[in-house]
Amino acid sequence: MIPYLDLKAQYRSIKAEIDAAVLRVLDSTQYILGEEVAAFEREFAVHCHAKEAIGANSGTSALHLALLACGIGPGDEVITVPFTFVATVSAIVYTGATPVFVDIEPDYYTMDVSRIEAAITPRTKAIMPVHLYGQPADMDPLLEIARRRGLTVIEDAAQAHGAEYHGRRCGSIAEIAGFSFYPGKNLGAYGEGGAVTTTRADYAAMCRTLRNWGEEKRYEHRYKGFNYRMDGIQGAILGVKLRHLEQWTEQRRQVAEWYAAALDQDSVRIPKARPGCRHVYHVYAVRTDDRDKLRDVLGKQGIQTGIHYPIPVHLQAAHADLGYHAGDFPVAEQVAREVLSLPMFPEMTREQVREVAAAVSEARV
Ligand SMILES: *Cc1c(COP(=O)(O)O)cnc(C)c1O
Repeated sequence: MIPYLDLKAQYRSIKAEIDAAVLRVLDSTQYILGEEVAAFEREFAVHCHAKEAIGANSGTSALHLALLACGIGPGDEVITVPFTFVATVSAIVYTGATPVFVDIEPDYYTMDVSRIEAAITPRTKAIMPVHLYGQPADMDPLLEIARRRGLTVIEDAAQAHGAEYHGRRCGSIAEIAGFSFYPGKNLGAYGEGGAVTTTRADYAAMCRTLRNWGEEKRYEHRYKGFNYRMDGIQGAILGVKLRHLEQWTEQRRQVAEWYAAALDQDSVRIPKARPGCRHVYHVYAVRTDDRDKLRDVLGKQGIQTGIHYPIPVHLQAAHADLGYHAGDFPVAEQVAREVLSLPMFPEMTREQVREVAAAVSEARV
C-alpha cells in the first residue's frame, strides 16, 4: 500500500518536539492567540520574506482578511482562475465582490496572464493568482499589468509554502498573500489554520483588527470583524514544524526528480516547472487522456491518488450564479479531465516512487 500522503510518518519523526509544544500551551492556558502564535507569526514572516504574518483560523479566513484589508467589497470585481480549490473563489464572494475568471496556462496550470487585460472592466479592483500545486504563477507580467491598471494583487499561496519566483518567495511577491495550514498542506497544523503575509504595515494592522472582531481596544469595535483567530496549540505546532519545512521541501523536490526519471513519459505527461522558479510540489499531478482508468488501475494495486480538481469552479453548482458555462475556459476544463495526483510526501522513498512508476507503465493508458 502506498498512501497519498503520510501524516503519521511525519508526526512520528517530530513527536517529542510536538508533544512538548502542545503541553506547553495547555499549561500556559493561552489557548487562543498568545505568545506561541505571536512567535510563529514572526518566524513565518521571516520565512516568507514578508514584513508581517497574521495567524488565522484557516486559509480561507486568511484570504478573506487579505481581500478586506485591500478594501475589496460589494460592486468590485476580482480576477482569478477557475482551476483552483473552491476556497479561492468563496473568499472573494464573502466580501460581496464578484469573481471574474480567466483561463490557465496549458503548461503550468496557473493564471494565463495574457488573458488578464481582456477581463478588466471599470469595476475591477484586484487580481488573485493561485500558486497552484506549489508552483508560482507568472508574477512579473501580472504585477506589471496590475501596476499599469491600478489594481491590487493578492496571492493565494495556500499551496506554495517556500516556493520562489526568480528568487522572491511566495507570500511577499505581491503586497499581500494568504496561506493555509490545513493538515495536508506543505506546512500543516494539527487542525485548521492559515495566515496572511504582507509587506505593508497598514494591511497587517487591518488584518489583526478584523480577525479579532474589528476590535481596536477591548470591547471597542471599530469595524464589523470576525472570529478568525488562530489557536495557541496550532501556533505552537506550526512553530515546531516550520523549523523542518526547508528539509521537507527539499525532500518533496527530490521525490519529484525521482518521479521524472522513473515515469514512462509516453503514458503520462509529467509536471513542468516554470524556469527560474522553485516548485515545492504540494501536488505532483500527471496528465493522461484516460485518467479515470489510470486511477482505477493504481487503486487496485493499493496506490492512493487524488484529483485536484475534477470540476473547475466555474462549473460548480454553488457558483452557477456567476453565469459561466461549459466551454468558457477550455484549458481549465481539459486539465480538470486529465490530471491525476500521485502520492507525494517528504517521507516517500525511492522504492515507493519506483513502485508507482512501474504501476503507471503497466496501466498503459
Ligand atoms: C487549501 C486551500 C485554500 C483554503 O485553505 P483552508 O485552510 O482549507 O481554508 C485556499 N486556496 C487554495 C488554493 C487551497 O489549496
